Amino acid sequence: VSVTDLVDESFKRVSEVEDKVQAFITLDEETAREKASKLDEKLGTDESKGLLFGMPIGVKDNIVTKGLRTTCASKMLENFDPIYDATVINKLHNAETITIGKLNMDEFAMGSTTEHSAFKKTRNPWNLEVVPGGSSGGSAAAVASGEVLFSLGTDTGGSIRQPAAFCGVVGMKPTYGRVSRYGVVAFASSFDQVGPITRTVEDNAYLLQAISGLDPMDSTSANIEVPNFVESLTGDIKGLKIAVPKEYLGEGVGETARQSVLDSLKVLEKLGATWEEVSLPHSKYALASYYLLSSSEASANLARFDGVRYGYRTENPENLLDLYKKTRAEGFGDEVKLRIMLGTFALSSGYYDAYYKKAQKVRTLIKKDFDDVLSKFDVIVGPTSPKPAFKIGETIDDPLTMYANDILTIPVNLAGVPGISIPCGFDNGLPLGLQIIGKHFDESTVYRVAHAFE
Ligand code: GLN
Repeated sequence: VSVTDLVDESFKRVSEVEDKVQAFITLDEETAREKASKLDEKLGTDESKGLLFGMPIGVKDNIVTKGLRTTCASKMLENFDPIYDATVINKLHNAETITIGKLNMDEFAMGSTTEHSAFKKTRNPWNLEVVPGGSSGGSAAAVASGEVLFSLGTDTGGSIRQPAAFCGVVGMKPTYGRVSRYGVVAFASSFDQVGPITRTVEDNAYLLQAISGLDPMDSTSANIEVPNFVESLTGDIKGLKIAVPKEYLGEGVGETARQSVLDSLKVLEKLGATWEEVSLPHSKYALASYYLLSSSEASANLARFDGVRYGYRTENPENLLDLYKKTRAEGFGDEVKLRIMLGTFALSSGYYDAYYKKAQKVRTLIKKDFDDVLSKFDVIVGPTSPKPAFKIGETIDDPLTMYANDILTIPVNLAGVPGISIPCGFDNGLPLGLQIIGKHFDESTVYRVAHAFE
């Protein structure tokens, strides 16, 4: 097959299913085809080829792409054409992938259903009546429906792993610092990480390989060697020690989700691993801590959208203050406004110690819970989400229910460790995810365990 064949296949699938699934905000067919014919010239020559040579890929729409509209699913950036590429996009160029288009998401990555997009509602390919999860819902749905085999998402509080679980695909949130955030529109900078969503664990390891590494443009990217992730897929997990937090199988977790985790543990036991129940006692405070901290960071990060520098601007403002107010009132959706208000409140003087500082302390305790368990075990295993995907509309006016569903993914972001979601069964025809969590910068072991199921 030629690269053009692969790109044809991708766009053919898009034309078959995109009507129903609605995963993409922007398609970039012309550029994709041009690039494909360029790469085809290399076929049959001994010119060196990139790690993912000719592979069509979709990119979440909060990762900036030079000359290709990047909206964050917000009216605020509806007509925003970036003048540079994110570092991960440059790395994709080096790997010689082909960007098919930009994928739908919750506005500014705030949400767990992709319903908070200003433009469209992405549907779950397994059942068009339910959400694909979020905020990287477009990224997961595009892979699940076969429009692409590779996509990039971002995970600030579960937004790669939860949609991957809801759509029955593989999604990895790498260690904080493994992948550059340069050119990723900031939501909560101390949590945001880019990561791969794919059909298989092996593909996932390849894509993470391609995007990882120190970046001088991001001071939080880590100066730590990137191992060969694909080489870690040995199939050998003999002697591996697995921790299963009792908080991850307790109250609120659906019976089918619980049972599918126990079944998965049996498989791992057969392969020579052992498991023990442990406790992450501060997990119950994770949601409160995360939503306070991430909203605080978001309120500061989103201050840049003022109608002056770039993005949406209101028409006929009366004065400068009116320009700011109207631009932001008209440009942001409800969920984003809710977070900005919560964040500015939490950061205001007089409240800082009671809320922000307290939440930071809780974050430290949660990180310590993880460090303690991971000093004795190789990985932590549990469900990705307590329940399968919600019905469309179910949580749209009920943010607390939407947030509560993040209880099993968010502690991982607070701790900064890597976590993957892989498919592990079904509940009423809807996919369930198994979450495997590793030590800081030990994605290799996470992949090794995940791969044992393939
Ligand atoms: N549900 C989380 C939130 O709404 C997801 C955030 C994310 O990972 N981008 O904040």
